[in-house]
Amino acid sequence: MSPLLEPKLPEQGLAGSYINGAWHWPASGQTLTIENPSRRSPICEVGRGGAAEIDLAVSAARAASTGWRAMAAAERGKLLAELGRRLEDNAEEVARVLAAESGNAIKTQSRGEAMGAAGVLKYYGGVAVEQKGETLPLGPGLLSYSTREPHGVVGSIIPWNSPLQLGAVKISMALATGNCLILKPAEDAPLAILKLAELAEGLFPPGVFNVVTGLGEEAGAALANHPGIDKVSFTGSSEVGKLIGRATADRIAKLTLELGGKSPTIVFPDAIADGRLESTAQQVVNAMRFARQGQSCTAGSRLFVHRSIWDQLMPKVTEKAAALKVGDALDPEVDMGAVINAERYSEIRSFIAEAEAQGAEFLTGATPADDPAGFTPQPTILSGLDNTWRIAREEVFGPVMVAIPFDSEAEVIAMANDTHYGLAAFLFTHDVSRITRMTRAIDAGWIQVNQGGGQIPGMSYGGTKQSGMGSEYSIEGALEAYTYRKCVTINIEPAA
Ligand code: NAD
Repeated sequence: MSPLLEPKLPEQGLAGSYINGAWHWPASGQTLTIENPSRRSPICEVGRGGAAEIDLAVSAARAASTGWRAMAAAERGKLLAELGRRLEDNAEEVARVLAAESGNAIKTQSRGEAMGAAGVLKYYGGVAVEQKGETLPLGPGLLSYSTREPHGVVGSIIPWNSPLQLGAVKISMALATGNCLILKPAEDAPLAILKLAELAEGLFPPGVFNVVTGLGEEAGAALANHPGIDKVSFTGSSEVGKLIGRATADRIAKLTLELGGKSPTIVFPDAIADGRLESTAQQVVNAMRFARQGQSCTAGSRLFVHRSIWDQLMPKVTEKAAALKVGDALDPEVDMGAVINAERYSEIRSFIAEAEAQGAEFLTGATPADDPAGFTPQPTILSGLDNTWRIAREEVFGPVMVAIPFDSEAEVIAMANDTHYGLAAFLFTHDVSRITRMTRAIDAGWIQVNQGGGQIPGMSYGGTKQSGMGSEYSIEGALEAYTYRKCVTINIEPAA
């Protein structure tokens, strides 16, 4: 019996699929083993749902759609806010589940993610009523107005790196706008989402919110390809994003894609002047998301430092990254936990080993051990390379930052944009003109200036180039992504 959730069916493990307000064991009877990457030990089994469960969930969602979209937006909002409150009340337990399955340290990441996800649900609960349309002043004989209509049934597919936060965003944007949802969490980290589904039991009408766990190429592909899915919202790798694009193209299903990144962090000399060295160095480390093992789509993994301050900034950045305590994500003292699985660990290892063989210099970190006790690479900063190296071009999705000096604004803009990604950027300078020029010039959906913080509900978020399509997160983004405009023009006869 799982210590994480009460099994909903007599078989050992978790059913995995929450469909039509009830737990379903997959028709195939097959399971997936969920592992704790910090300890390299199994946590529990979950159902390996596939096409049959997706079919069932789509039918349930379609049946629920008419009633759900007819409900007053404020009522839908209240239910989302209530789910946010329930999550808040259970945040510590959910955070422990999240830390165990994702490897994200409870101290620096998972506790904050649980509270952040609750905040997202409450935020969208509050703004559900913003689903407004337009009116046109066409004179006494005509009334023309538009409404925002839900697409119908949304299929959302999410990765393992911030499963609860991303799940909360997908749930709240879809449900607030009157869509029903089928959520497919990543096969490596579905447990916090199942906890959230457990907290949602009895809250929404059956069929409004469904979860199906399973493999990407099975449950995920079945969801993306299903003719009963009107819109797909996908967060994950650019590679799979392209597959989803092909799957949805034939039926012109609506689509938003939040994909990978290789974001630049750019530091100009004035960013360390006037006693700002410590704080700028800390923000550079934060932007790299070292405390999330670098497993963040927005990680500022390419650090460009003005040559004149290299010798002052780099030792500080290195010192702060190296000071992070690495270990078991559930250890209350640990700052940085484990990367998600053996495959990712070995990919990260091969990126670093290749760079080492090419002559990169380690400012901190080392090529990770071949067969470690937990998948816990050290924070790693490499120099002595340029923007053309594979490690500087491809998304490593690990705690690896490359540091490259630059001499001029034009040079750093060219290097920052020399990538097929365009998700985020971090800029450190206090020169207003430079900030304005640079933020105009850099290809990125999200630019932070003098800080390396996380996303904020209400702020638009999405990437350009191969980092994505569409922008969600803000209420305007949610409306654009999850509704269509219906225009109505009425010919008004004059009174007899
Ligand atoms: P992934 O693309 O391998 O998997 C993401 C999800 O897609 C999982 O649920 C997986 O089961 C599913 N999937 C895999 N193959 C599929 C298929 N053929 N059809 C349908 N679904 C399929 O990504 P990952 O390794 O889990 O996550 C890391 C990636 O996600 C990184 O590239 C990261 O940058 C990106 N990411 C982007 C954002 C963003 O907001 N832009 C946020 C988080 C992560």
